[in-house]
Amino acid sequence: MAAATVAAVPSAVKKEDPAAIVDLSSDEDADSTSRDSKHADYLKTDASINDRKSEDLDEDDTSSLTEDIVNLSEIEEFEYAKTTGPDLCTVEEAQEFRSRLHEIGIDQFIRETITKKAISAKKLCTAFGIRIPAGLFDVETDESYYPFLGLAITREFARRPRLEQYTNIDHAANLLQTAKNIVVITGAGISTSLGIPDFRSKNTGFYAKLQDHGYEDPQEVFDIHHFDEDPSTFYKLAGDILPDMCKWTPTHEFIHLLQQKDKLLTNYTQNIDNLESQAGILSEKLIQCHGSFATATCRKCDYKVPGEEIFNDIRHQKVSECPRCVETLKAPQRSGVLKRKRSSNSHGGKGKRRKSSEEDHDSDGDYDIPQPGVMKPDIIFFGEGLPKEFFSRLKEQDTKKVDLLIVIGTSMQVAPVSEIPQIIPKDVPQIYISRDPVKHINFDIQLLGDCDVVVGELCRRANWELKHKMHPPGQQVDITPFKSNSGHGNGCSWTIKARK
Ligand SMILES: [Zn+2]
Repeated sequence: MAAATVAAVPSAVKKEDPAAIVDLSSDEDADSTSRDSKHADYLKTDASINDRKSEDLDEDDTSSLTEDIVNLSEIEEFEYAKTTGPDLCTVEEAQEFRSRLHEIGIDQFIRETITKKAISAKKLCTAFGIRIPAGLFDVETDESYYPFLGLAITREFARRPRLEQYTNIDHAANLLQTAKNIVVITGAGISTSLGIPDFRSKNTGFYAKLQDHGYEDPQEVFDIHHFDEDPSTFYKLAGDILPDMCKWTPTHEFIHLLQQKDKLLTNYTQNIDNLESQAGILSEKLIQCHGSFATATCRKCDYKVPGEEIFNDIRHQKVSECPRCVETLKAPQRSGVLKRKRSSNSHGGKGKRRKSSEEDHDSDGDYDIPQPGVMKPDIIFFGEGLPKEFFSRLKEQDTKKVDLLIVIGTSMQVAPVSEIPQIIPKDVPQIYISRDPVKHINFDIQLLGDCDVVVGELCRRANWELKHKMHPPGQQVDITPFKSNSGHGNGCSWTIKARK
């Protein structure tokens, strides 16, 4: 009975009688209920495909092959507008099918389409951006397409659907003008025009430098346990990622402009360079998801200082001591708290430090020498949690108020920040600005290019003045539909380039 699925994979197509492939649609005797359930079964979930994969197959990796083909087909997205034919959905049909799916759910959608024979599975595949490569089937039946359709539908249903009314940069500019509570998510891409490396990315000079020092992974340097054991590693290397405090980019200025226009609800940044603050974004509007260099805290007594106070030590590769701990150690009568066995986060024991007065009458030797705590910049290390306010603000305020989401300069690979587009209400428009497109999130409009250039053009179209010395006032841009490697666009992704 599983012949229809078998036919999906060429190597698995039965060599015998094609008539053995059961055609459900011509099975006049099948009662409609069982036919319904068969269709629903085929099309419902990945699991159902997995379940029936091996029965009639020589190979038993049908589902992964199916997924491969679906993924491949997605890469080769085609331009609906330029394709016509009985087996191809128009762009309007595709949009309609996709919104209908989200409206009524998978089961009902299958009943309305495939079960009622309102459309062929082959054609319906194209509504979800899937075009099965020609020649895949030895014997082509519409059931051959069920596994692909099943995957496509399941995947589409799990995503936030695009809002089809927004497709281009003018829509984006209009959204800027009308929105009142904008959430902006930012990543390394908004700072790179200043030469600040993304220290988590593997292709930066900083990463190479780590390797020179014998570290395979930034995680070793930015691990909180490692820091507590030996902070000198971090202090040796951190000078390279220390932000230049006097500069910020036109993209930072753009976010600041949103704040000035009273439209900025929250900027969630994954950057630790603290340039948002430099650009004037208020701390109550800013969530630094991975912390920042803006402040530093003693690992021993939690004393907090402005980040700049330890910059000099970082620049000189010198482990920074907590000034409060040092003071306390100088005052014998108040030193009880710190008169403990040497803590693991102390970097003492190198024999260089002058003995404090109280050590002089400590008789039990080295093991009881009090040491000041080490200052750590408040960037979030591996092994530390995200700021509490991240979750509380998102849940209690932002998801209720947000009316526009703009994601800039991040490939949205790191959770939980990457989950925000799925968490906020589905009817809130989402704009994506970055060098490269993303496929795993359904942004309504993707504006691809240099962030500074894109936000400059957005401001121009919104009749806003973006004042920044790196933003040429009369900047002109070329906007072309983004095309994937296979030369296809999707109608809502655009490449934006500054005209030279
Ligand atoms: Zn301290």
